[in-house]
Amino acid sequence: MRKVIDSHMHLDEWGSEDFIPFFDEYLAREEIHAVNICAIPIAQSNVCNNIMTCFYKLAHPGTYAHGGIELIKIPIDNMPAEMDALTQYHELMEIGFDGIKMLEGKPTEHKRIGKSLNHPSLNKLYAELEKDGTHLLMHINDPDEFWHEETAPQWAVDNGWAYLDGSFSSYEEIQRQAIKILEDHPKIKITFAHFFFCGKTPELLEELFAKYPNLCVDLTPGGEMYEAFAGNYEYYKDFFNKYSKRLVFGTDRCFPEEQSYANWCYDIVTTFVGTSETKKGYGDKELVGLGLSEEKQDDIFFANFERRVGKEPKPINKEKLKAYIEKYSFALTEQDMEKIKPLMEKYL
Ligand SMILES: [Zn+2]
Repeated sequence: MRKVIDSHMHLDEWGSEDFIPFFDEYLAREEIHAVNICAIPIAQSNVCNNIMTCFYKLAHPGTYAHGGIELIKIPIDNMPAEMDALTQYHELMEIGFDGIKMLEGKPTEHKRIGKSLNHPSLNKLYAELEKDGTHLLMHINDPDEFWHEETAPQWAVDNGWAYLDGSFSSYEEIQRQAIKILEDHPKIKITFAHFFFCGKTPELLEELFAKYPNLCVDLTPGGEMYEAFAGNYEYYKDFFNKYSKRLVFGTDRCFPEEQSYANWCYDIVTTFVGTSETKKGYGDKELVGLGLSEEKQDDIFFANFERRVGKEPKPINKEKLKAYIEKYSFALTEQDMEKIKPLMEKYL
């Protein structure tokens, strides 16, 4: 039986039911060895995203977690010194996060931070991550079709992810800023989510892989990248063989969401990476499995992640978590505190 780590999942809200059974059920699939839950407080401006993630780690200690920076003030260089990005990074690592997740490169969040990804306040953070060898999972951009009226899909428009009114940075500009992070911090252990949205321009990834030894991309859909894989199959078969050490498995599924959707997504990606079978995936074209060797499958399914993040997830330091909840309580609503209190009683 294969071993899989889902390197990229989310816990978006408390939801009406407990979030703990959702991940428990997903993990009940025997081949899933562990999940990595990525907190993205910036998306909801809600620091309890980090806190909930810690509680899942306490409920299920085999779980990895990546923490996110809470945007206390905008633009990002306005954050108070005792809560700037670098300080928050150290706090998260002391609590027991296994890495950092940034959504700051998604056009909507990029607009909210109000500064370039290369701003000194973020450069300090990258420098520290590079020095510490801490893993950074970073969402950069979105599919390039989201910038054009003729090509932006309706579901992207409905989510506020159509970048048509000129107020968002361009795909090229955000990509340029991401590459600049690598130029300035060439050893940073960074994984760009969603294949860096380069399904149509994989030669750029080849160039970057040649220059930056610690760069990986993950395979979380982006359905459009799976359409690109299907449409350029022979090229991608070679690509996956050649770069198996640079590709990381994940689904990007989140709570609250239908478990069946997470399973559907899991099946498409695992069939593609782990078999030679044909499966109807995203778009019209059928997706043919890559037929990779066991060793290369292992790289993608778990070994690359373990090499980058660690063979065992870090434990939660309860005292540090309590101090964090206390310090950021000003950013929590009463409803949040109602949810947090019983969890504190149970786990802290
Ligand atoms: Zn994600």
